[in-house]
Amino acid sequence: MKLLVTGGAGYVGSVCAARLVEAGHDVVVVDDLSTGHADAIPDGCKFVEADIAEAAGDLLAEPFDGVLHFAAKSLVGESMENPQKYWHGNVVTSLRLLDAMREHGTPRLVFSSTAATYGEPEIELITEDSPTDPTNTYGATKLAIDHAITSYAAAHGIGAASLRYFNVAGAHGAIGERHTVETHLIPIVLQVALGQRDQVQIFGEDWPTADGTCVRDYIHVTDLADAHLLALKGTQPGQHRIYNLGNGTGFSVKQVIDTCREVTGHPIPAKVAPRRAGDPATLVASSQAAREELGWQPQRADLGVIVRDAWEFTRARHQA
Ligand code: UDP
Repeated sequence: MKLLVTGGAGYVGSVCAARLVEAGHDVVVVDDLSTGHADAIPDGCKFVEADIAEAAGDLLAEPFDGVLHFAAKSLVGESMENPQKYWHGNVVTSLRLLDAMREHGTPRLVFSSTAATYGEPEIELITEDSPTDPTNTYGATKLAIDHAITSYAAAHGIGAASLRYFNVAGAHGAIGERHTVETHLIPIVLQVALGQRDQVQIFGEDWPTADGTCVRDYIHVTDLADAHLLALKGTQPGQHRIYNLGNGTGFSVKQVIDTCREVTGHPIPAKVAPRRAGDPATLVASSQAAREELGWQPQRADLGVIVRDAWEFTRARHQA
């Protein structure tokens, strides 16, 4: 298929673009490089450097079989401090993309949504029909886009899937997580192991969880990318499907730090700090729908494997 990947220079977008190329698809990446890296775009993709809000109409004038939409602002803390950046950067941009798809009859869309759309449902495993009540602006913008996709799909015959990621981590060979300002737990902990930071801060030890630190469901980026290929294949005209993607097991911040200590052999000093605004205590996925309907089967579910791949990537980049 001929596919447009927005945000294909970012972490998840570039891994997904790599998997699409490996699977034989014809891939065009569009990215404004505001947070992505040109050298993360996999070989074999055509690259257009542009803001999707401005370029979508022209790009989709050429027929595409589908769009995988990753381009977004994605930091919880920043979304609370600068909501305008998120409402415009995520919602307005996505509406422009949907309008271009409608105008040019692009038939398929896979959207990078998030577990943050749920807020904090008080259930052990979050299913797709759990209530959506985001605790932060980032999640609210992604939920708004999900709603827009539902209506555009129904009205204009687009076959769509939103994939609600839990905590993506790990690396796909030489493609991994590298944000200019890093806020995510595993990369930060690995920066301590590399000697680039003195210690990791644990954001709150008074959460209602077993050890008092926040619990998340970590998923390997390659497994996540593979779900996109399956979701794309499974789209049905006029329908918008939503799938949670996680491994169904929660790990606390302290457990993640312990796993990083085991993998790296570094003591990784940690210090308890105040809670971070917008954080829910626990987020763990039921990904039964993705498994049953898409046939998705994560191959790298073990947290040790996820951290090992992230560590190999981090070390290789540090030595390069
Ligand atoms: N976290 C932390 N210290 C850090 C970064 C993150 O304690 O330096 C916690 C954060 O509060 C959350 C968990 O680690 O409970 C995962 O955070 P991350 O930013 O990686 O992903 P999020 O769950 O926000 O998408």
